[in-house]
Amino acid sequence: MDWIEAKQIVSKTKNNQWFGTDYNMNLYRGCHHGCLYCDSRSTCYQIEDFDRIRGKKEAIEKLKKELSGKRLTGVIGTGAMSDPYNQFEATEQLTSRALEIIRDNHFGVAIATKSALVARDVAVLSEISQIAPVIVKMTITTFDETLCRIIEPNVNPTHKRLEAIKVLSNAGIFTGVLMMPILPFINDTQENIINIVNAAAEMGAKFVYPNFGVTLREGNREYLYQVLNRHDPSLVKKYKETFGNQYFCESPNARQLAATFNKLVKDYGLYCKMNEITEAYKWKRESHQLSFFDR
Ligand code: SF4
Repeated sequence: MDWIEAKQIVSKTKNNQWFGTDYNMNLYRGCHHGCLYCDSRSTCYQIEDFDRIRGKKEAIEKLKKELSGKRLTGVIGTGAMSDPYNQFEATEQLTSRALEIIRDNHFGVAIATKSALVARDVAVLSEISQIAPVIVKMTITTFDETLCRIIEPNVNPTHKRLEAIKVLSNAGIFTGVLMMPILPFINDTQENIINIVNAAAEMGAKFVYPNFGVTLREGNREYLYQVLNRHDPSLVKKYKETFGNQYFCESPNARQLAATFNKLVKDYGLYCKMNEITEAYKWKRESHQLSFFDR
């Protein structure tokens, strides 16, 4: 793995509307998972050679310094622009070492990943959850492993990610599924939604957060079309005709899918709305330790 200089490891979020995260942390640049819809490929982010993972030099030392210098604690989100459990994390352990720093400084953590490797860190996540909020969001977009290999070629198989949810849930970590994106004409079927929600509930997930569409902009749109062209050029035509250059491309089945989804999550008692999920994973801590998270 190559290493790059980084001025800062943690940055303040503009608002904490996305799962209540107060800070963003990126220990790596780039991602090897190859998701064909990845927003981080968009031209606006200017990440060269996105599929090549680079670690940030002295990330752990810098993180230690940054967190100990903060007047207010809060929840640190990770997994927005690169997966914190990429192929190098198994040996480099930047994420697991960062979690120890987060624990020692009494911050909370919100992890988004597509890797079962997150279950390796169950012990330190449990320790953090004793003193601060913890949420793990496992992205699952399709229950069909063959389709998964096309749309997310380098991620762990879906059943492995489900097993990781089980391990974390059994340890009392607030864990659930990010069911997004649901790509128009690709994984937007009733069967897929039902299978994912059923499996999430079975594994002890606390929530499933959906998005029945995909966002496309310059850079990631071209990449999506390039990959689709190799598999089924008629899909590219369909996307162009249906959405043009639209940013949010909603599945034409969104309404029916949402109805099925809403009924299922209600039956299982799963959270599915942002405010409910955020309140649920933060509530326990905030009610006992307002001095840490009350602002
Ligand atoms: S895991 Fe996330 S960051 Fe990595 S390629 Fe997929 S969508 Fe992009």
